[in-house]
Amino acid sequence: MQDDERLLSIIPEYLPLGIFVYDKNGKLTYANSVALAMFGVNLCDILGANIFDDPNIIDEDKERLRKDMNVSFETNYDFDRCRESFISTSIIKKRKYFVTRVTIMHDEVGNRKGYLLNCEDITEKKHQELKIIESYKKIEATQQELSLALNTGHLISWDYNIKENAFYKFKDSINNSEKIPFNTILENIYCDDKQKFLNSIDNAITGNEELNNNIILRAFDFESKEYRHYNFVYSINKNENADTIGITFIQRDITEDVIYNQNLILAKNKAEEADKLKSTFLATMSHEIRTPLNAIVGFSQLLSDTDHLDEKNEYKQLIEANSEILLKLIGDILDLSKIEAGSIDINRQNLDLATLCQDLYMSFKQRIKNPNVSLKLINPYQKCIANLDRHRFTQIFTNFVTNAIKYTPSGEIIMGYKCLPGQVRFYVKDNGIGIPDTKKNRIFSRFEKLDDFAQGSGLGLSICKAIANATGADIGFESIENVGSEFWYIGYTEVDYIEKSKNLDTKDETPTTDLSDTKTTKDSNNLNILIAEDNDSNFLLIKTILKGNTITRAINGVEAVENAKANLFDVILMDMKMPIMGGLEATYLIREFNKTIPIIAITANAFNADKDAAFAAGCNHFMTKPINKQQLIETLSTI
Ligand code: ADP
Repeated sequence: MQDDERLLSIIPEYLPLGIFVYDKNGKLTYANSVALAMFGVNLCDILGANIFDDPNIIDEDKERLRKDMNVSFETNYDFDRCRESFISTSIIKKRKYFVTRVTIMHDEVGNRKGYLLNCEDITEKKHQELKIIESYKKIEATQQELSLALNTGHLISWDYNIKENAFYKFKDSINNSEKIPFNTILENIYCDDKQKFLNSIDNAITGNEELNNNIILRAFDFESKEYRHYNFVYSINKNENADTIGITFIQRDITEDVIYNQNLILAKNKAEEADKLKSTFLATMSHEIRTPLNAIVGFSQLLSDTDHLDEKNEYKQLIEANSEILLKLIGDILDLSKIEAGSIDINRQNLDLATLCQDLYMSFKQRIKNPNVSLKLINPYQKCIANLDRHRFTQIFTNFVTNAIKYTPSGEIIMGYKCLPGQVRFYVKDNGIGIPDTKKNRIFSRFEKLDDFAQGSGLGLSICKAIANATGADIGFESIENVGSEFWYIGYTEVDYIEKSKNLDTKDETPTTDLSDTKTTKDSNNLNILIAEDNDSNFLLIKTILKGNTITRAINGVEAVENAKANLFDVILMDMKMPIMGGLEATYLIREFNKTIPIIAITANAFNADKDAAFAAGCNHFMTKPINKQQLIETLSTI
């Protein structure tokens, strides 16, 4: 029994709790060593200290103790306060967390015998707990910041959970995420981008791709009800065993950026196109202006050199004709600038088409210099009054006929018109080179020339189309390559007409003589010269300058090659720009069988690139129009 008592008395020393025993008046009678260490005190210093003086026990609990009630409480024990008013402790400037339980001890008859206070030091636990609370607060703050950042940056955060095969769309905290099945997400991705999306997920999971990768996808947006472009930056989530458990995606709507970029590319292409058009325009204009100018300058010079009245008259006519071409070109350019400015002027008036077409026919006939081409007018009316713009009507007809003349090496051109209720259709048919199907859609575009070597600015038909648009008319054509073309224009107007009693179609007149037949005087020691030149005025000018030499003319590259093959010439003067085959190609072909014959390139294209191209093709000299008489003679003397 004594042993048991001794054993019992030492048990408190082995408990992990601090034990204090107070007598019935609250005076301390015992403390175990755990309690002494906990409070940093010696037993002798605290024996007799009263529990009711302990400032760390609140008054309510003391009151309960007085009323014989057990109490338990948690304290954040203030040792400094305790030292001042209660017991002397060696623990300085420190607080500890204790869980304290005070139990009233009673004797056998129920009288209070004393107080048993056990105390557990939970400071370490409490600090851990506080740290956890702190961490939670930090996580919460971070989530709020993340949510704010996502909202401000119009970003969406997604977490893909591999195990659940589902996405979690982050709203404002991790706990508030919307779970969306993988297939629902996949359904909303644009069909062409689905595979890309699947590949990225696959690569990310299998570790084939680097972290923080990027994908751009189109996905359906339910708000705007359209597919939008999104950029996804993603990173892989791993667990503590380094297994991939998911992927975090940050989604950014880049639709505006994509549209902006697309517009930039369009604007860049447009600017490049405009630049190209400008260069083409300058090159074409340079050529088109130089050609008639060449004739005007050249014949003006010759005019002052000759005393022959016939020659003077001939030169004057050529100067006039070329001035007209120049004026027409300038007129076209002005028309074009008016079209650009949207101010094309249309003045309708009552016209007698029967007379007007006859007049036009007569004037067009004068222009045909090719003996192999005839022009016919189909004029079914004695009188035909229509309300049209005379200038524009003439302009369109002129353009159609001029083109037909240009692109018909031999055959017939028919111009005519026909009235139907409320409309008049006029047309120009030819059996010329026709237009290949692949090029038909470009015919009415500006500066569009299907044959680079043909003369013309490529403006005529686009101006005709603009006039048709401005007057509410229709314009079009039918064409078969190597068979011929028909260009037509339908003006909508009331027409009043009287048909002819019988077909009084104007008969084709004898074609005008080719200017190459113009009389020349032969020199005894002349050169045998081949002039490849499609433009009559220019040909005549060179021919006149070179009076006394034997001249053969080719009106296109093909004829030039054939002539060069069949005859032995001393020199070839080669115009670079001719229909059917240009001078460059002809020179290349001639060089295949004749390496030595001097070829002088004569061109209205005055750019260095043209010169380089001419030399590369095999020309020996290069001269620009307007032709300088002296320079030409000097060049020939060096041959
Ligand atoms: P251009 O003043 O250079 O002739 P147009 O705008 O009048 O320019 O014509 C554009 C292009 O359409 C020409 O370069 C030519 O290639 C083609 N074209 C026009 N009319 C005919 C036609 N009757 N036969 C064949 N091609 C034609």
